[in-house]
Amino acid sequence: MATTAAFETKSQRLARLLEISRVLTSTLELSPLLQSIAELAADLTQSAVASILLKDPGSPNLLFEAAPAEHLSRLRKLKVPLDGSVAGWVYTHRHPLVIHDAAEDQRIYRKIDQAIGFETRSMLAVPLTIKDRTIGVLEAINRLEHGHYTEDDLEILQTLAAQAAMSIESARLLEQLQAANEDLQRLDRMKSDFIAIASHELRTPLGLILGHATFLNEILPLEHREQMEVIVRSSLRLKEIVEDMASISHEERGLARVRPQNFSLAKMISEVCQSFQTEAAEKQIELGIDVPPEAPLLIEGDAEKIKVVLVNLLRNALTFTDPGGRVGVKAEQDDQAVKIVVVDTGIGIPPHDLEKIFERFYQVESHLTRRHGGMGLGLSIARAMVSMHGGSIACESKEGVGSLFWVSLPLKTSPRG
Ligand code: ADP
Repeated sequence: MATTAAFETKSQRLARLLEISRVLTSTLELSPLLQSIAELAADLTQSAVASILLKDPGSPNLLFEAAPAEHLSRLRKLKVPLDGSVAGWVYTHRHPLVIHDAAEDQRIYRKIDQAIGFETRSMLAVPLTIKDRTIGVLEAINRLEHGHYTEDDLEILQTLAAQAAMSIESARLLEQLQAANEDLQRLDRMKSDFIAIASHELRTPLGLILGHATFLNEILPLEHREQMEVIVRSSLRLKEIVEDMASISHEERGLARVRPQNFSLAKMISEVCQSFQTEAAEKQIELGIDVPPEAPLLIEGDAEKIKVVLVNLLRNALTFTDPGGRVGVKAEQDDQAVKIVVVDTGIGIPPHDLEKIFERFYQVESHLTRRHGGMGLGLSIARAMVSMHGGSIACESKEGVGSLFWVSLPLKTSPRG
């Protein structure tokens, strides 16, 4: 192994170290990186072998992470104690150690040699340190030709250790990041599966409740009407929530499709606003429409999906506006597109939340303290549906003054999805 460096001068070895640093920074996988550091250490110090031990985070031991391939599997099973081993001493004292005659030295942890049938004669060990933290130890073992480790060997090994420690740390951080990323992806899949299953499973019983409640509402005597209407209204709200979950799930799985048809957006706006009039009146909010009477605003698109957009924007406007406020819907058309504006005099949205409100489950108010209901899905669904039509949606808002959401839809849909 240690042949190349045998006749090199110190400056030649340092030059090689520079070359090596380039190799080290280009290896990002931890295991192969450690293995190449150990091989380089043996080569540069003219040693028979070299190994790397890293501190076990869960115990007062060091564990072998790199060593000659034929020994590694057995060495991995060993726990090298911080107290009672050369590596442990170097790790704890953060100081290098040279041992010229291992047979006579009490600090050697003999179990290592016994485990692999090896004889340690001499040793040079340096700590692997990053800033003020030691992460392990780099050891070169058995100087070739029965020679003694020199000051130059020590210097070279320390220089290599300094570079190696940084590379090890980067590779470890990358591994942690990848693991965290995989965890997040797994959680995201679980969340998506949950939404898909929950929305699917809730649909049937909810349909039954709604069907029977509507039927009972019609046949029960008038004195029970009020209660029945509460049941029907609440079931309808639940149905909307389940539909929202199903839409998100469909969209996530790439199942959502635009089914284009020609329809009048003006008529749709008027109908949707009409359906919110009672709620607006109950909340003492003035709900106005400003659509030019002569403009039917004919577009080609998926009416059901566009209706969801309108409903979600209007519901938010009414939800986040206090009694006495105003909500307005405006629409106008040019050669290319129809622009719908939903404006309110509500609580408004802080500037740093404006980008995020279109993300799934995002709500400005914390779910622990919020005064308003909702699941944080309405706007993300609206955005998905608008972009499926090749349109755009955005929001302008001022806290305490109100919000303005605008949607631009092309007259003719060029469906995406
Ligand atoms: P939610 O079901 O919570 O309304 P949305 O995705 O529709 O979910 O909206 C996300 C968040 O954006 C809301 O929880 C609210 O904090 C904020 N928001 C949306 N519309 C308005 C509005 N008109 N006025 C103030 N805040 C709003």
